[in-house]
Amino acid sequence: MGRYLVTGGAGYVGSHTVLALLDRGDEVVVLDDLSKGHRGAVPTGAKLVAGRCDDPKAVEAAFALGPFDAVLHFAALSLVGESMREPMRYIGENLANVTAVAGAAAKAGCRKFVLSSTAALFGFPERIPIDEDQRLEPASAYGESKLLCERALAWAERVHGMRFAALRYFNAAGADPDGRAGEDHDPETHLVPLAIGAALGTRAPLTVFGTDYDTPDGTCIRDYVHVADLADAHLRVLPLLDHRSVRYNLGNGTGYSVRQVLETVAAIGGRPVPHGLGPRREGDPAALVASSARLRADTGWSPRFPALEDIVRTAWAWHSAHPKGYADRPAA
Ligand code: UDP
Repeated sequence: MGRYLVTGGAGYVGSHTVLALLDRGDEVVVLDDLSKGHRGAVPTGAKLVAGRCDDPKAVEAAFALGPFDAVLHFAALSLVGESMREPMRYIGENLANVTAVAGAAAKAGCRKFVLSSTAALFGFPERIPIDEDQRLEPASAYGESKLLCERALAWAERVHGMRFAALRYFNAAGADPDGRAGEDHDPETHLVPLAIGAALGTRAPLTVFGTDYDTPDGTCIRDYVHVADLADAHLRVLPLLDHRSVRYNLGNGTGYSVRQVLETVAAIGGRPVPHGLGPRREGDPAALVASSARLRADTGWSPRFPALEDIVRTAWAWHSAHPKGYADRPAA
């Protein structure tokens, strides 16, 4: 099988993708500075180089463990709200990480690159579901940073022959179905872990951000996609990079409102989700739902866990087994 460099492999989507690669017999090197990721999230079987993507020594140490068939680049700042307080840091760091790693990959003769991109590229979309032909108009510095990363990779393609896949994630949620990994952010800002934590009593009650949207129940609609299905999509785009670069929107294609998520968490957990109602969060579009028709047609991808119940069930299992997240788990 192959050998892959996974930056940000100690983070949420990255660690689940590392598991998917190891499960099919690939070798994996993780480059992660552990600023957001967790040592305990790097599975046994993967090698960890602890360092930053913009540290040439760390990147060199990682590439010394190659040669790699491809780089999967997850390492990034990823909070929309934070990006609107520190836009230059977001744009600077996210772009610097991509240019450093893609530059080193080209130098090492590795010409395949998978980028974690985002639905935030589309800002406030004109149509739902969102396909790849919609206008790219980020409404946050985070979205802008990822658009610039995609554009930088197009130059790596033009000059170095680097082929890349940009996967625009919608709302990643859930946990490894075998309980080996889960979601552990600090601070946690995402709806599913906050709702589960509130129901378990490990977190404070949450606030529903806005009840006056133009949606059936007044709360925002998002496309929640299981993290294991996201991981699978990364594996499926790799063979395409023998021929061309690709950009795909990656979601389930079904939208659920904030209220529906809270109801599902309550039903799966068998207890209510303590919450209050609050004002809108700045920058939140009313609805974001993906069309992943292009990805499905080109790769045969389809989600194994399309139902919100399954997404929440795997997340619930992980959070109840690890109420303190990776702090409960010894490093692998
Ligand atoms: N949300 C909420 N309360 C929270 C966190 C999130 O009502 O404490 C809502 C948020 O407004 C959005 C949805 O839940 O409509 C998903 O938010 P999340 O931050 O998980 O992901 P995002 O859509 O920002 O990527």
